[in-house]
Amino acid sequence: MVLVDVQGDFTVWKKGSLGVAGSDRAYVRRVKAALYDLKKKGLDIYATQDWHPKNHLSFFTNHPGKKPFEVIKLHGQDQVLWPPHCVQCTENAEILVDKSLFKLVVQKGMLMDWDSYSGFYVGGGTKTILESALKKEGVDKLLMFGIATDYCVKSTAVDGAKLGFEVTVVTDLCRGVDPKTSDKAIQDMPAAGVRVVESLDEVRIR
Ligand SMILES: [Zn+2]
Repeated sequence: MVLVDVQGDFTVWKKGSLGVAGSDRAYVRRVKAALYDLKKKGLDIYATQDWHPKNHLSFFTNHPGKKPFEVIKLHGQDQVLWPPHCVQCTENAEILVDKSLFKLVVQKGMLMDWDSYSGFYVGGGTKTILESALKKEGVDKLLMFGIATDYCVKSTAVDGAKLGFEVTVVTDLCRGVDPKTSDKAIQDMPAAGVRVVESLDEVRIR
């Protein structure tokens, strides 16, 4: 299974710069409880971590005169300008779950001029080692949850399906940036080959 970006800066619990609605302490507790349970049932847990240099071009602060959440063109594609977040080696870039739970942590967004919402890509089309690590272990089914439903969860799930994995997203363990785009992501993912369920109760583990 893949835990997506449960990092301080994306939670209100840690007063993150991009803390999304409902990402309180209770949410992180539920994520942790689910991970311990899944690990006990024999699943390996892979985690993604947004990991930007300070001068990253997804930060509005690196574009004089721009405001947070403005959209610009970067490499010909829409790029949301975010508040600075998940800056490498800062406290709020840390994943809020005991690292001993993870088989592997995959970092993304390290290239200054490329953003990456997907855990399968560093940015600019360069792959992380996630796909090869999963395939080496013979993993073909992926459970997925984390933050944010409408960006990194959606993108990682859709790419996972494209790369041949059977992906199931568990929505009650996800939190999104915006309710409208989160609802749209949940509606759109099945057409991209991603199974969407509300709760882990709907998933048969092995
Ligand atoms: Zn980011």
